Amino acid sequence: MTSSTTTLHHLIAGEWLAGSGTSAQSTNPADLQDIVAEYETADAAQLDSAIAAAESAAAGWDAVGVLARGKILRTTAQLLEAQTEEIAALMTREEGKTLADSRGEVGASVETLYYHSGAARRPNGVTFPSANADEVVRTVRRPVGTVGVITPWNFPLQIPVWKIAPALMWGNTVVWKPASDTPAMAVKLAEIFTEAGVPAGVLNLVLGPGSMGADLVADPRIAAVTFTGSVAVGHSIRDTVIPRGGRLQMELGGHNPAIVLPDADMASAAAFITAASMNSTGQKCTATRRVITVGSAYDALLPELVAKVQALRVGPGGDAGIDIGPLVSARACDEVTKAVEQAISEGATVLAQADAPEGDCYAAPTLLGGDASLTIASEEVFGPVTTVLRVDDLDMAIALANATPFGLTASVFTRDEQAVRRCLDEVDAGLIKVNAPSTGSEVHAPFGGLRDSSFPAPREQGSDAVADFFSITKTAYLRALPSEVTS
Ligand code: NDP
Repeated sequence: MTSSTTTLHHLIAGEWLAGSGTSAQSTNPADLQDIVAEYETADAAQLDSAIAAAESAAAGWDAVGVLARGKILRTTAQLLEAQTEEIAALMTREEGKTLADSRGEVGASVETLYYHSGAARRPNGVTFPSANADEVVRTVRRPVGTVGVITPWNFPLQIPVWKIAPALMWGNTVVWKPASDTPAMAVKLAEIFTEAGVPAGVLNLVLGPGSMGADLVADPRIAAVTFTGSVAVGHSIRDTVIPRGGRLQMELGGHNPAIVLPDADMASAAAFITAASMNSTGQKCTATRRVITVGSAYDALLPELVAKVQALRVGPGGDAGIDIGPLVSARACDEVTKAVEQAISEGATVLAQADAPEGDCYAAPTLLGGDASLTIASEEVFGPVTTVLRVDDLDMAIALANATPFGLTASVFTRDEQAVRRCLDEVDAGLIKVNAPSTGSEVHAPFGGLRDSSFPAPREQGSDAVADFFSITKTAYLRALPSEVTS
């Protein structure tokens, strides 16, 4: 892996410009001495220029037409795929995840681009009958306008692609503010979109702090905002965008339960729960945060789970044989360490802990035991920690699963179809997995949560939902005039 430091620029109106704000950098969480990238943040005038550029580019991008836009997304996918190794190495260096995870993320992003490029050739309107014989009623989809995209660091490629690809596909222009922890990944993706043929001003990238994101979403020229991140920031964005009449899509945090019934296949449940709670160092919004065991499931599952967690190999994500990399930053590491200490002070027991290197941003994958009164059993801690809880029956399991303000994903492990049906109906989660990990989703199926994990708007992914968010539907009544009779 290279250890040179890259100087980053902002993409505004098709030009790569140095920032006029303050100095910032990203570091390698496996080696905090390794500066991955440095840059000057964008200032208020540059953010203004980016939004103005996006507005100016809108008519031209609309005129390019849907098939040509689809082709540009397809080229983006091809360019991204061709650079898989280079991009995966950069992702591991800047975010910390293992190379296998980084490669997987590049692959998933490529698939997402192909999926949205395919929308170009699908029907994009509906025809309705009319009361008038000489009339046709049909819908057309039009761009929403300029979309503000704000993304987190934990999927520094995939989440931006989830948002930017459909935004562009449906003819919108974009101003993107990525997370400050992974700016080099953002620049790489913007470079690839540009190389693929996205015209000047259609995609603008501004690097800066959270406050710049707040300024972006407050701007009345931003017609729609798509955001993934924490609940607190999501709610502040909602309170800005909704009162000014903007369109909003958000995916926020989670506290995802895995319900394990006594008839489950315990070996496979333990493997899936360990992967879902610990992979990517537990930094997935869909990670399993609570394991709710019903009756005798606790004693049957626990030895399997303990063995799996203790066997995890923690170290630099770029090293061979590593399962779990460091957390993204020293701040994140501090938060996870404090949350585990607090849980222990509240009475939690450590059921299993993997060995982890000292220093940099490492946290030991930890399996806690305790009850639902623990703070960690209801507040999201974004790291490799999960808590095993015990209840007597399925009613109690469902009640406990629903006992947080979140509702992103859930999983249930059982052979009992009746229990599965009850969980599908009664567990408050936007995505429910049966005998499968709470993490992972398909690009062609809608993705999103309930309650504090989301916002009631069209889902991300899935063809209809994504089109509904990124386009405006107009209904046309087309009445034919009688032909002129010429003598
Ligand atoms: P944050 O909410 O802190 O940051 C997300 C993005 O918002 C970053 O780009 C950040 O910029 C920006 N931001 C920060 N403050 C503001 C503001 N006031 N106005 C506008 N934008 C702002 O989340 P994290 O980066 O810490 O990501 C982790 C969180 O994201 C977890 O809670 C996780 O559950 C959730 N998440 C949800 C997913 C889902 O699909 N439901 C998927 C992945 C993560 P900066 O980096 O400069 O601070």
